[in-house]
Amino acid sequence: MYLRTPCSNHPMPRVKLHDLEFEPFISEAEVNAAVDRLAAELKTKYQGKRPLFIGVLNGAFFFAAELVKRLDIECEITFVKVASYLGTKSSGRVTDLIGLNERIEGRHVVVLEDIVDTGNTVKHIMDALADHHPASISIATLLFKPDAYKQTIPIEHVAVNIPNAFVVGSGLDHDGLGRNLPGIYRIVEQKTNA
Ligand code: 5GP
Repeated sequence: MYLRTPCSNHPMPRVKLHDLEFEPFISEAEVNAAVDRLAAELKTKYQGKRPLFIGVLNGAFFFAAELVKRLDIECEITFVKVASYLGTKSSGRVTDLIGLNERIEGRHVVVLEDIVDTGNTVKHIMDALADHHPASISIATLLFKPDAYKQTIPIEHVAVNIPNAFVVGSGLDHDGLGRNLPGIYRIVEQKTNA
């Protein structure tokens, strides 16, 4: 359960999730506008190609739903699960794609991520999908941290670039909490007494 803390000068209140406090960062309206832009981009690129969108669970459920409901083109959507993250630091641990039953060969595949941080997860997914010989693969992500990115694969479709801070909301969690928050919240750094 999270606690809402009133914040006088901002319509979105701060939230407490477990031991950490988060402050409003990107409003729901801004997220919606960014997804609108991305949907228009993908529509132009994939019209007539019947793309297969692969959402990466759990975090991408929100972005995937918001994106595909804006795409009035013929497309398919499925989800996979990849275990890769614990707590507030990217651990680099990844496993195989779980739940991928669709035929990939010859398809135009778009991987849907909630956030790309170091890029290790996306690299693993791209390698696994490449073995199935798709016609093309690209990545679309709600959030991208360019300063944290360590891979060379281009992140072609980004809704919002963000600085290297831990965020929650719009599908992103802190140890299970916060996925249902509309908009994006950024961690409040604890002040240390020198
Ligand atoms: P990467 O492999 O790119 O370092 O990290 C990818 C995964 O780490 C994301 O799918 C997400 O689960 C998690 N992650 C990275 N940065 C954040 C963040 O700021 N907030 C949350 N909630 N998860 C993050």
